[in-house]
Amino acid sequence: MKPTIAKIYIENLRANLRFIRSKIRTGAKMCVAVKADAYGHGAVVCAREAVACGADFLAVARVSEGIELREAGISVPILLLSLCDRSEMDDLVSFGITPLVFDSEYIGEVAAAAGRAGKRGFSVHLAVDTGMGRIGCLPENAVSLAREIAGSGVLSLGGMCTHFSTADSFDDGDVEFTDLQFRRFLKATEDVRSAGIDPGIRHCANSALTLARPETHLDMCRPGIIVYGYYPGDIRGSELKPVMSLSTKVVAIRRFAAGVPVSYGRTWTTSCPTNIGVLPIGYDDGLFRRFAGKLSVAINGKAYPVRGRICMDQCMVELWDDDVPRWSEAVVFGPPESGALQTAEELAAMTGTISYEITCQVSKRVERVFVG
Ligand SMILES: *Cc1c(COP(=O)(O)O)cnc(C)c1O
Repeated sequence: MKPTIAKIYIENLRANLRFIRSKIRTGAKMCVAVKADAYGHGAVVCAREAVACGADFLAVARVSEGIELREAGISVPILLLSLCDRSEMDDLVSFGITPLVFDSEYIGEVAAAAGRAGKRGFSVHLAVDTGMGRIGCLPENAVSLAREIAGSGVLSLGGMCTHFSTADSFDDGDVEFTDLQFRRFLKATEDVRSAGIDPGIRHCANSALTLARPETHLDMCRPGIIVYGYYPGDIRGSELKPVMSLSTKVVAIRRFAAGVPVSYGRTWTTSCPTNIGVLPIGYDDGLFRRFAGKLSVAINGKAYPVRGRICMDQCMVELWDDDVPRWSEAVVFGPPESGALQTAEELAAMTGTISYEITCQVSKRVERVFVG
């Protein structure tokens, strides 16, 4: 077995999915975000579990991610949360991936692809930008765009959505802004309905709002990070279970005298005779260089500090005079049952990032081992 692996605790994934499903307003659908290879956890396995636990929709960010799910036999509706290139639109249609649209040109391109494939009523969701400043139409343009979709002859308005910029913050100004975005979105959907067009599935709640604001659930929630066991931003709780652990092994132990520099740049030097373990994990595995000086790994339940710079494929850990056997497992992060002393969320907080980035950046060469 490879020394550096990411274990995916399927039981924890299921527990999170069941918990989330129970938090979603009865009658509202669940759309599970499995973009970015399920935030690094393995899209196909996570998507299957999500569907088994009641996901009505899945969400991806790239057409290729949608195709991967279709080729694995997954048949639930798949939302494409980002835009694709014109050249990908035939794939979008043939694999039955539902795009978010918000301007006439893009709607025209999707309609042309649907036309080429001889489709009628190909579902698209109209994205409304209520304050995220990313994708979406201005709320005042929602009605005319909904008319274009409904009048295209080949497309149908399957839903309307928006995305929040500060939903995970409890800061007064941010809560106010979330409320403002929500009101703008509701008005856009009501305007479309008043114009005689069914807005379809109205969805806006990400993980933060799925947990904290049931009134925003509308017809569907789009949870992501909570599926993988982490609380976003200011949201706190104790129900979610981290799904991924990242671990490696002590592949060598060196005995160094005092005054020996360790790793590139000689940024750290032994101050007394000590044992230094070599770990075959580095920044190409997702252990960022900026973790240096802050990162510890857990070996047999005790924390040992990583010393010196983190290299591309390796790093060094101080074992002092402890009796650490060669080939011991060293856990970087994970749920308690992995032997980790910190979760990806705690590691993120310590290193100035968010859990999302930590699990997404565990690279493809780190084998995902599914357990449970
Ligand atoms: C990624 C994403 C989500 C899920 O976000 P989380 O914060 O992980 O819940 C929901 N909606 C859109 C549009 C997204 O891009």
